[in-house]
Amino acid sequence: MSDQANSQSSFLQNRSTRRRVLIVGGVAGGASCAARLRRLDESVEIAMFDRGPYVSFANCGLPYYVGNVISDERKLLVASREMFRDRFNIEVHTDTEVTVVDRSARTITVRDGRTGNSRTEPYDALVLSPGAAPIRPPLPGVDLSGVFAVRSIPDSRRIRSWITDRRAKTAVVVGGGFIGLEMVENLIHRDLSVAILEKLPQVMPPLDPELAVPLTEHLAAKGVQLHLGDGLARIEEQNGGGLIVIAESGARLPADLVILAIGVRPETALAKDAGLQIGPRGGIVVDAQMRTSDPSIWAVGDVVEVQDVLTGQETVLPLAGPANRQGRVAAESIAGRETHFRGVQATAVVGVLGLTVASTGASEKGLRRAGVTSFQRVYLHPGHHAGYYPGAQAIHLKLLFRVPDGRILGAQAVGLEGVEKRIDVIATAIQFNGTVHDLAEVELCYAPQFGAAKDPVNLAGMLAENVLNGDMPVADWLELDHTDALLVDVREPDEFAGGHIPNAINLPLSQLRSRYAELPKDRDLWLCCAVGQRAYYATRFLNQRGYRSCNLSGGYTTYKALKAAGLAG
Ligand code: FAD
Repeated sequence: MSDQANSQSSFLQNRSTRRRVLIVGGVAGGASCAARLRRLDESVEIAMFDRGPYVSFANCGLPYYVGNVISDERKLLVASREMFRDRFNIEVHTDTEVTVVDRSARTITVRDGRTGNSRTEPYDALVLSPGAAPIRPPLPGVDLSGVFAVRSIPDSRRIRSWITDRRAKTAVVVGGGFIGLEMVENLIHRDLSVAILEKLPQVMPPLDPELAVPLTEHLAAKGVQLHLGDGLARIEEQNGGGLIVIAESGARLPADLVILAIGVRPETALAKDAGLQIGPRGGIVVDAQMRTSDPSIWAVGDVVEVQDVLTGQETVLPLAGPANRQGRVAAESIAGRETHFRGVQATAVVGVLGLTVASTGASEKGLRRAGVTSFQRVYLHPGHHAGYYPGAQAIHLKLLFRVPDGRILGAQAVGLEGVEKRIDVIATAIQFNGTVHDLAEVELCYAPQFGAAKDPVNLAGMLAENVLNGDMPVADWLELDHTDALLVDVREPDEFAGGHIPNAINLPLSQLRSRYAELPKDRDLWLCCAVGQRAYYATRFLNQRGYRSCNLSGGYTTYKALKAAGLAG
């Protein structure tokens, strides 16, 4: 008898009248729930079932295993079956799929993937953490050999072997979101030439389009072919071997392998069959204690719908942090504690070929979708540390906040250094219902190589405060094509000559005090500089002299991104 069969039979024989908690899915949500529950309650029986060969593996590390950044597969195994048994007295059943939940009998049916045999297991409490499955669109060719999705260790192993065995040179990644971009980076690490096919006109769909522009430019500079605004039509085998990806536009992209990364869908089949309530976003409906519509069943992780704390809307958010926290909340609830899950704010980060992209809270498009209108935005492009210390790199940062109280609604940032630190600080402020005034005041680490005496987070808060208190009225970039305002570029003539907003006149800040009378007092003035700082100074000067001026936040740097994103003419 195998080790696993042994431990399984002893588990069943030893079954007593103790409360039985069964967990479906043994990775992020399931494993954290199991371990927390054991720490809270030594008396319950806990068993975890996963249809795959491993539990508690690092899904987030899979792209880096493909890229050979992580070369030892064992490093992906965070905890083993034996560790769960020996340290926590938790039985783990791998290669065991849960096929039926019978709510009236309070049993699950499980099928042993090695023998094909099925059996039933009774439960007092059941936790569903089956995750989300990569979407495979019903298009011709998606099941061909050489077309992969990335979800499990065996998936990544297959991709690695395919690259090596076929001496793959080219790849097409379908989908330019988090997983797609991580795969792009890692395929490049393997010396493949990579193309991205993305249906939306931008990569990283959660970002507002103008913040995706530095990322698009970075990818192009690194040699990634970008096919944006173009969907997948089909995949065919080429005569001489290899695949050809055919886009909706008719573009034909040859590839030795194709990665499908067009998103994931909550694995709700078990829950649906059991009659549990499913929400409008396609996830299992749970309360704040992660309890489903059946009081004996909890659900956590990618499979559930949770509240977005900023828009108040239900959402599905397939990220590891929320899955882990929800697993813990479910364990506490099962153990009789009144812990509540606070909801999600979509804090996320991705690194792509040296560039970091991070965001927290709502995007502008998310706010608009949710019908929120009383908000403002500021753009800034500060260095990640003091400019006088060598190596400062710009962070492109957008902050969204509520008018008039200044509550922080969201932030997005892109840059080479220091990006995730700023977004994490803002994320923490959001957790505490913080305002832009809090960001202006927050006391952060500073030494020249790490930050600035006014950290980018402080600056973002100060700018937003200036907007709220009227010190720096801001013009709406999206109205640029329709405004009657006079556009005044306050940079130096050589900067202006290097590129400027159409129809802008040039009056440098350095000459403003002697020449301001040239400007009309009876017309709105929209001021622009490189990143917004000089235009702010000019706004302050002019408005104290009776002019009606406002700042184009983020300056010409923001203009170029908006223009590239098709949001400004
Ligand atoms: P999972 O961790 O997916 O676990 C579900 C398990 O349930 C699976 O092992 C599955 O085999 C098993 N299962 C499903 N149905 C059954 C059944 N009927 N019977 C038995 N077992 C079943 N998140 C981040 O925050 N940061 C990242 O950098 C990041 N990178 C990622 C990279 C990749 C390639 C992937 C795939 C995901 C990444 N994620 C990342 C997302 C993160 O991994 C998930 O949000 C998280 O793992 C969800 O946890 P979960 O417990 O809901 O599901």
